[in-house]
Amino acid sequence: MSLDAVLARIDSDLPAATDRLMELLRIQSISTDPAYKAECDKAADWLVADLQSLGVKAEKRPTTGHPMVVGHVEGDGPHLLFYGHYDVQPVDPLELWDRDPFDPAVEETEAGRVIRGRGAADDKGQLMTFVEACRAWKAVHGSLPCQITFFLEGEEESGSPSLVPFMEANRDELKADIALICDTGMFESRVPAITTMLRGLLGEDFTITGPSRDLHSGMYGGIAMNPIRVLTKIIAGLHDDTGRITLPGFYDGVPELSDDILSQWQGLGFDHAKFLGDVGLKEPAGEQDRTPLEMIWSRPTCDVNGIWGGYTGDGFKTVLPSKASAKISFRLVGTQDPDAIRKSFRAYLEGQLPEGFSVEYRTEKGAPASQMSIDDPAFEKARRALSDEWPDTAAYIGCGGSIPIAGYFKTITEMDSMLIGFGKDDDQIHSPNEKYDMESFHKGTRSWARVLDALTR
Ligand SMILES: [Zn+2]
Repeated sequence: MSLDAVLARIDSDLPAATDRLMELLRIQSISTDPAYKAECDKAADWLVADLQSLGVKAEKRPTTGHPMVVGHVEGDGPHLLFYGHYDVQPVDPLELWDRDPFDPAVEETEAGRVIRGRGAADDKGQLMTFVEACRAWKAVHGSLPCQITFFLEGEEESGSPSLVPFMEANRDELKADIALICDTGMFESRVPAITTMLRGLLGEDFTITGPSRDLHSGMYGGIAMNPIRVLTKIIAGLHDDTGRITLPGFYDGVPELSDDILSQWQGLGFDHAKFLGDVGLKEPAGEQDRTPLEMIWSRPTCDVNGIWGGYTGDGFKTVLPSKASAKISFRLVGTQDPDAIRKSFRAYLEGQLPEGFSVEYRTEKGAPASQMSIDDPAFEKARRALSDEWPDTAAYIGCGGSIPIAGYFKTITEMDSMLIGFGKDDDQIHSPNEKYDMESFHKGTRSWARVLDALTR
């Protein structure tokens, strides 16, 4: 019954909640541009004051970059940590916006009402769904449902330079039973989702050198080995004809999906023909014995992101270059070890180099995948709670990209993360005319109330 009262409160408070979000959206908290430093500060102050109005002991905590907002409220039951970010992406090109990005408004569109403005979806609107759920809870019950730590960052859109040092310095304070993160989307803008698999990333940026200088192919062509020929052979050998990656040991630590997850994914009805058709493609390029969703969520990949060498300007120059370079990246899953894969890749590459050739690496640090342990009953409780709010049953999904904060919660504070978000594919985050559907804001807030209820009951 009491959940019904909280949900009713959210419904009746929606206009005021929308006004509050508008206030936050008017603050120009672009984290990457030093010109907006004071605005980032202002957004942090706004959030501190808002959390304090909920009885949260919140404060702005300095870093060498933009401040963190950290707040605590005591309570019984589980200790939850909520993460969101108050900074936003730059707004250029400004001329492509239909309105001032920092003068947000509710607009009627054919697809329903939307909140338009920079940060509406990423991440101020999403962040406020959780805060508004807490506000409604407090209004009905007089207090928040359990012990909650709020952890709001102001540098997410600019590489989070202060995040790891801050988390390491405040490890004990930021330790809770589970982290709730609201910065992701619904599956195909429709199915509520808990993201439980995030792929890791390993990059190799390298140059191979053959001849000691660029040569004329009329004079040396035929006798001198061309580094581009060597490089392309190396790259071509990374995949076999069935789409598998050939590096020895590459699939060590790649888990098979449980039948339960496989059937949930089958139930999503992913239309890979449309997904590929939207970008002018037809055929899935991954391992041929895997489903398209496995290819983007639960299988590792190898991609060439850049390749250069020789003469690439206008006209023609019959150069036989001295060097050839490439950037190659691997998306990792399960417990694949970035260091072991780097070793395997380099052993393969160096084994392909002709006598007299050399290679130089410009190393970047790799990050392993994160996989949440969904046997923690909190996940199933949250999934049922989300399913109660939306027409479609909620699903555990993967995410092809990386969300570093989830990895840091795991490695620094030993917490699993529950990534629940209500973004839609057409929210245009990072682009002009960013919006957040009013439905996402409203039902997202209701969803958090249900999740809080389920986790604390
Ligand atoms: Zn974000």
